[in-house]
Amino acid sequence: MTRPRLFDLHGQVAVVTGSSRGIGLAAARALAVQGATVVLNGRSPEAVLPLCQALRAEGLSVDAECFDVNDVPAAIAALDRVRTRHGRIDIFFANAGINHRAPLLEFEQAVFEQVLFTNVTAQWAIARHAARSMVAQGHGRILFTGSVTALRGRRNVTAYTAAKGALHALVRQWAAELGGQGVTVNALAPGYIRTELTRVLQEDAEFDGWLRNATPAGRWGTPEDLAAAIVFIASREAGFLTGQVITVDGGLTAVL
Ligand code: NDP
Repeated sequence: MTRPRLFDLHGQVAVVTGSSRGIGLAAARALAVQGATVVLNGRSPEAVLPLCQALRAEGLSVDAECFDVNDVPAAIAALDRVRTRHGRIDIFFANAGINHRAPLLEFEQAVFEQVLFTNVTAQWAIARHAARSMVAQGHGRILFTGSVTALRGRRNVTAYTAAKGALHALVRQWAAELGGQGVTVNALAPGYIRTELTRVLQEDAEFDGWLRNATPAGRWGTPEDLAAAIVFIASREAGFLTGQVITVDGGLTAVL
């Protein structure tokens, strides 16, 4: 008798927002390697379509929907097209996000509101639409990208911290709301990962030195460092894991 392979995602359909690079792209590849059909997203077809071709050439099952998460009706229409083409949405990784760095006393309110809209309001609205089909089919995995900045204070990221803190709270509320319907809701809280988003910090020698010192792993994370946790949270085997924030940070928040 052949035993089913752990964390096998064949037959499942995943949508990963913000997967034109960085954490989202690594997540999309990892989910596809486990067998899922993965829908890539970013704002620009010029960025996303060649990635799709490259992943297909690796033998992976991928598709694309390009939209700006700030355009919620466009995102919802895209999810509806995914359901029409692939029949279901099992995994929704609400990963697209932005940051803006400025001291608190100089932070523009309009910028604060934009960061909150992109990182929270848009994610809330789009993921909720995905949740509707998951509830209807009795199975689903919703994953938000949180951050260690929601767990520890740090200067210059007041809007980002507020947004990620809201996502950490939302997973608990959504787990309560969607419990018992086959849908789990969790957040991943990455530490500092080498991507475009943190380029300015990577190029700051003082920050780089501080981070390597403060992190027990002694290094920056890579997007691939997060892939195993993402696959696990998305898997059928993780059906009893909900309402949690899973921190993957090389130990940064574990130590003083
Ligand atoms: P990147 O800047 O490398 O990637 C961001 C991704 O989001 C890109 O694919 C980008 O696509 C997409 N994106 C941005 N804005 C929009 C939008 N309005 N609509 C659709 N897509 C959008 O960042 P990371 O990979 O580092 O970040 C991914 C997530 O991880 C974010 O939520 C971030 O806050 C979070 N995070 C990152 C950490 C890190 O250290 N890097 C740590 C903790 C959390 P495109 O520009 O092509 O449209």
